Amino acid sequence: MAAITMRNIVKRYGDGFHAVDNVSLDIADGEFIILVGPSGCGKSTLLRMIVGLEDITSGDMIIGDTRVNKKAPRDRNLAMVFQNYALYPHLTVFENIAFPLRLRKAPEEEIREQVNNAASLLQLTEHLERRPANLSGGQRQRVAMGRAIVRKADAFLFDEPLSNLDAKLRGQMRTEIARMQRRLGTTTVYVTHDQTEAMTLGDRIAVLRKGVLQQVGTAHQLYEEPANLFVAGFIGSPPMNFMPGRLQDGRIETPFGAVPASGPRLSKVGDRELVIIGLRPEHFEDAALVASAVRGRGQAFTAEVDVTEWLGNQLYAYVPYSAPAEITQRLEELERELDSEQMRTQLVVALDAASRIRSGAQAHLWFDPERMHVFDAATGENLT
Ligand code: ATP
Repeated sequence: MAAITMRNIVKRYGDGFHAVDNVSLDIADGEFIILVGPSGCGKSTLLRMIVGLEDITSGDMIIGDTRVNKKAPRDRNLAMVFQNYALYPHLTVFENIAFPLRLRKAPEEEIREQVNNAASLLQLTEHLERRPANLSGGQRQRVAMGRAIVRKADAFLFDEPLSNLDAKLRGQMRTEIARMQRRLGTTTVYVTHDQTEAMTLGDRIAVLRKGVLQQVGTAHQLYEEPANLFVAGFIGSPPMNFMPGRLQDGRIETPFGAVPASGPRLSKVGDRELVIIGLRPEHFEDAALVASAVRGRGQAFTAEVDVTEWLGNQLYAYVPYSAPAEITQRLEELERELDSEQMRTQLVVALDAASRIRSGAQAHLWFDPERMHVFDAATGENLT
């Protein structure tokens, strides 16, 4: 096993395009880290530079305590687990797992011992004589991991391994991969564009945008304290609501009234300047259901609800509002980049399922200003 250290990694293509731009990242020995971001953000390129399938333009790639920039992939002792599992259909599970050992002409006895150990770890013992066609998707994934295990790789690397599966199988496989990684404790780097996978799988998440690392942290940190508008919009489903705001005398005007504003970096924007406010759907409440003890510290407002969706455990309500053109434009750009379908001039609020709020009617809603994020409209930096 090994730690993976990246120092100022750059990947520049012939036309001068920076696919990866000055990324520094420390992955601890045994850590499970997710590289996430929209299509084209450079996550696969970064993974391929770790494995050695892509040249590094500049920077240092260090595995354990060795700089590997110039090392061939086979000398890096990493195992890439491919999306299609790359199993040999004519070989049994046993022989598929044994494959790397046969390649290096390991003695028969060692092969048997190692394959049996891996199979027992992966709960494949009773399937060793089967062929891949007779296995479930999850079992095939485990065989592919078995092959990585017998190689005693220093790290596992996954590039969108679940993107071809249907939603149900994807959910199952997600749990399997998480369970196996915990059991094996092998350093793992996992690339995905799916924020749910990112949130649920790893110890930490690294968010990339246009080749630049935006934030690295636990799912909790990214959700609660997003560094900027991009991370805030990328993590969470339904996504965070963004609204225009304007600061004045320690208060902030929102489309739903003026509320107290506080944040360590709020002084970076001048008085009367436009900012973007972020509030997650679940941070709104039906005012009628807010306990009287806390009602006073929040902001109640009345708005017309366009549509509601009752999901059994929650009620989603869509609340339109008007916003200045300069903010709408900025948010539309972000929306395109995030490939989000949310209309930026309507709130999505996730209320208690007991709420009596209905489509087409006036609703009394409530939010706690303490939950509010305030973003610099120009740079996107989170000022709170
Ligand atoms: P996806 O999820 O779509 O695979 P990604 O985040 O993994 O996206 P990469 O495949 O790492 O993105 O690509 C990063 C950027 O580098 C993209 O804009 C891509 O078009 C560009 N790119 C990749 N390979 C080359 C190449 N050989 N020459 C020039 N540009 C390239």
